Amino acid sequence: MMEFITLKSADLTVPRIGLGTWAIGGWMWGGTDEAEAIRTIHAALDRGIRLIDTAPVYGFGHSEEIVGRALAEYGQRDKIILATKAGLDWSGGGIRRNSAPERLRQELEDSLRRLQTDTIDLYQIHWPDEGTLFEETARTLEDMRHSGKIRAVGVSNFSPEQMDRLSSVVPIATAQPPYNLFERGIEADVAPYCVKHDIGMVTYGALCRGLLSGAMSADRKFEGDDLRQNDPKFQPPRFAQYLAAVERLDQFARERFDRRVIHLALRWLIDQPGVVTALWGARRPDQLEPVDAIFGWSLTGADQAEIDRILTETVTDPVGPEFMAPPESRPSA
Ligand code: NAP
Repeated sequence: MMEFITLKSADLTVPRIGLGTWAIGGWMWGGTDEAEAIRTIHAALDRGIRLIDTAPVYGFGHSEEIVGRALAEYGQRDKIILATKAGLDWSGGGIRRNSAPERLRQELEDSLRRLQTDTIDLYQIHWPDEGTLFEETARTLEDMRHSGKIRAVGVSNFSPEQMDRLSSVVPIATAQPPYNLFERGIEADVAPYCVKHDIGMVTYGALCRGLLSGAMSADRKFEGDDLRQNDPKFQPPRFAQYLAAVERLDQFARERFDRRVIHLALRWLIDQPGVVTALWGARRPDQLEPVDAIFGWSLTGADQAEIDRILTETVTDPVGPEFMAPPESRPSA
């Protein structure tokens, strides 16, 4: 049964697992099948996954449109936490960070229209934009909150120092950093900061782009514009280290818990300090079947130590998720 948690920082109760809809937008994931995507969203909601995370940039509006259609068909809007983002601009060709007030105001109207809703529960700045004064961005978000068009403000990919700057004007309810068994950089700074300031972490990349699902093999081919063609974890010889780690973790999960690596990866994640929701990227209903087996058990300190030992022994040349970051903007004067 799905577990829920109430944020300390906002009037929101969120499920421990949320649906990530980047792949549903198609872009950078080799295309999308709309009918299948809508079935996936409905399957998620049926399973208690009542937080849907999307963004304008996912398929340049396409993911939000599909989410909007799926929610309009499903109903029960007031029982669903709808999270989207703003602050990436694709109007000039490439992707550029842009959290200027006029851009955010335009994006909000576009998102409300595509999502077929009057209010967004969680509105997140997708990537920090050093080209805009944070105070201006924050004041714009605060105005949106007062107007009722958004209920709470979140950030994504922000450093503690950047969160400090934004939160001097507007309260930050959530942070969305990358976090999974293989990508743990945030443990040094972002996670302790969020714990200290009661900011709930809605983490992305729980399955490390499918690597931790247990279904990945060395001969897997990625179609079209799938980002994993350029993901440094998926290139030899490093890919073999990660696959070896998955095999050892799977063995540990089976022997210790009668579960599989996919369950272990998610349980580990939601047991970490500060994590409120782990986003799960899925685009087919069957991909969500393992969700139920994440609940009703937990890891001891000894289990966590054993996992760390396996990781140290197998992944000798680790690499982070930095390849996904859009180019930095130049600091504003
Ligand atoms: P993820 O959840 O780590 O992995 C998603 C991929 O795992 C899926 O596309 C699927 O790949 C595979 N998968 C899922 N369930 C599976 C199952 N049961 N068995 C086998 N494979 C399975 O990756 P993510 O999409 O990067 O992250 C999740 C969400 O976080 C995104 O959708 C997005 O909402 C958010 N996100 C946010 C940011 C940000 O900057 N804020 C960045 C990245 C992601 P295939 O369908 O190809 O098999």
